[in-house]
Amino acid sequence: MQLSNPQFDAIIRAGRIVCPQSGIDGPGHVAVHGDRIVAVEQSNTPKVDPDSARRYFDFPDGILLPGLIDLHAHPANSGSVFGVSPDEHIVPFGTTTVLSQGDAGASTIDQYVDDTISASKTRILLAINLSRIGESTSHGCFENLDDADVDACVLAIDRYREIIPAVAVNVSHYACGETDPREVMSRGIEAAERAGLPMLFGMRRPEDWPLEQQLNLLRSGDIVTYCFRSQPHCIVQDGQVLPCVHHARERGILFDVGHATEAFNFDVAQAAINDGFLPNTISTDLQHFHIGQAPRHDLPLVMSELRAAGMPEDKVFAAVTSTPARLLKLDDTGVLRTNAAADLTVLQDRHTGQFGDMNEQSCVQTLWTSALVIRSGRVIRMSSPVSRPGRA
Ligand SMILES: [Zn+2]
Repeated sequence: MQLSNPQFDAIIRAGRIVCPQSGIDGPGHVAVHGDRIVAVEQSNTPKVDPDSARRYFDFPDGILLPGLIDLHAHPANSGSVFGVSPDEHIVPFGTTTVLSQGDAGASTIDQYVDDTISASKTRILLAINLSRIGESTSHGCFENLDDADVDACVLAIDRYREIIPAVAVNVSHYACGETDPREVMSRGIEAAERAGLPMLFGMRRPEDWPLEQQLNLLRSGDIVTYCFRSQPHCIVQDGQVLPCVHHARERGILFDVGHATEAFNFDVAQAAINDGFLPNTISTDLQHFHIGQAPRHDLPLVMSELRAAGMPEDKVFAAVTSTPARLLKLDDTGVLRTNAAADLTVLQDRHTGQFGDMNEQSCVQTLWTSALVIRSGRVIRMSSPVSRPGRA
């Protein structure tokens, strides 16, 4: 019998619903209406009437989380040499909100807003590149120092403040070429200070510039990405995290994974975690040349890798939900509560697979994969059987 006027658009039950911000962890369900969560209930027995919703999903072995947030990737439909289609390659695999690391700068942001942010179902924010050309060319974005244009960057932030929560400054040799990284850093700090925003910072190799000196220039709230590389820079020495890195954390500097393929070393991550140093956020640094790799490079895979390296599961979940939501100042995202955005991801431990790191070592582990993704109330992906097919 078709209901004429169901109360909810969807109800999603799961063996575990987990919300790090509110402390929920147990069996229960979430109800969605329009683009909002309208009910969150923990219960061992299904009290909900499935017929009260147009669509009913049940994942007895699933983990229902707020939609995952990837703090460092490269969503771009055009204008970035690293760009991947967010609707094709990001949101279907569990990430409902993603921060671009500098895919656009002041001269390319209008195109980025039109072609990527406005055109996507995925929620996209931009850590604007200090370089006005963003990542539009195959050479380093700071090879021409004139492109590190503080005034243009601050003006662009003023125009698009609601979608720009950070300034991307990467002082790597790749990004700078022959340009002095200290001058790039100085301009980056000036832009971030004037705009009142944190920096998303990529480090320089220590032979060029001691790590401690770089970290000493960062401010509380700035975020260091690529934290578990083994080269050209590494925060672990003799199995322990460097004192200057601990000091930076004590000053309020945050550390992000920024996995990619060459920016993550499993042994470094394991040593750091053993030393009590957990990343604040877990991110993929997904780029176009990851497309087609096996296993698929996505956020659940990177989360699985951190879990395998010893990071407690509750910390893994916080690092892709509540923590990035707080850093990005998203009050209604990364949380399961009434009137929050209806962004939801169900994960399942589905596959035993391999993941590699930059030394081509690999570990066979159980991997999380996304079984259901809902973004702004719309079902994006449903890869698992449900107890009752949708009636929509
Ligand atoms: Zn990146």
